[in-house]
Amino acid sequence: MKKISPIQQIHHPLFNQHKLRVYIKRDDLLHPIISGNKWRKLKYNLQTAIKANKKTILSFGGSYSNHIHALAFACHQQGLNSIGIIRGEPEYANNFTLSWAQHWGMKLIFVDRKIYRKRQQSQYIAQLQQEFLHSVIVPEGGSNALALPGVSEINDEIKQQGINYDHLMLPVGSGGTLAGLISGDNNQHNLIGIAVLKQGQKTPDYLTTAVKNLLPQQAKHFTNWQILNDYHCGGYAKFSPDDLTRLQAFMKVTKLPFEPVYSGKMILALLDLIAQAYFQKGETIMLLHTGGLQGLGGLAERNIINPLEWPLLPVPTAR
Ligand SMILES: *Cc1c(COP(=O)(O)O)cnc(C)c1O
Repeated sequence: MKKISPIQQIHHPLFNQHKLRVYIKRDDLLHPIISGNKWRKLKYNLQTAIKANKKTILSFGGSYSNHIHALAFACHQQGLNSIGIIRGEPEYANNFTLSWAQHWGMKLIFVDRKIYRKRQQSQYIAQLQQEFLHSVIVPEGGSNALALPGVSEINDEIKQQGINYDHLMLPVGSGGTLAGLISGDNNQHNLIGIAVLKQGQKTPDYLTTAVKNLLPQQAKHFTNWQILNDYHCGGYAKFSPDDLTRLQAFMKVTKLPFEPVYSGKMILALLDLIAQAYFQKGETIMLLHTGGLQGLGGLAERNIINPLEWPLLPVPTAR
């Protein structure tokens, strides 16, 4: 996909009041169904696999994973096979996310939590590699060194699109996307990552460490980035009715689609930071819409959100 995602200015009374200009890079529009940062992170992982003559990509995810959803489509599009090691029970196979994954030909292997926990252990990976000899194994979320150059293309695109900005804001899960933006930004802007999960008390700063570990040598000394930890709304995929109401109100004013697991938490953080006068008058903020709207299907299916109030994607037609 050569198409570059558009940038739009967002209008909201709060922005005027604080004399801020806010733009959004719409990576949710990279494709009608597959979107966002997972796509960016997979680009060079897949290219490298194809060059090495590999036929199959294997990766890991939860049963509503944006990464699994994107991987299945990307492999289908590139003529590769895909295998998903899924945390959970086989009955999840018919959920929104995994129906799409199977629609694009992904083979699903369900494992319990205990096995899933081993997904980064070298012994388990070696065992999988033995079992699936000709596969390339990509980590959960697609966050590895090969993910970074794909993400850095966002920095280049924004430059090419000619918009100057002071801050670049994005939601952070595993940190691969932030790491890619740090390496592509080359110390030019203030990068603000919003942690969407609650870090344990024993490991309060593991995300910062995870990002640093992913960075290439020349980017390790950059200090123009930070991860804010107060906007996870209770933890990964957690949010209150009030959080949903505030996000809905923002969506209504701006006519932009968000979901409450990733991009929505970035929006709530933005509103709070503006109210706290975190930004200076006259500054420009660039938001990265990381996509993930497919996740709304699973939330609606489980009655966690009201399907009538959110921009749901279509359910896959029979295979
Ligand atoms: C996975 C994901 C993120 C987090 O990206 P990381 O690279 O894991 O930090 C943000 N937004 C969406 C929509 C995602 O699916």
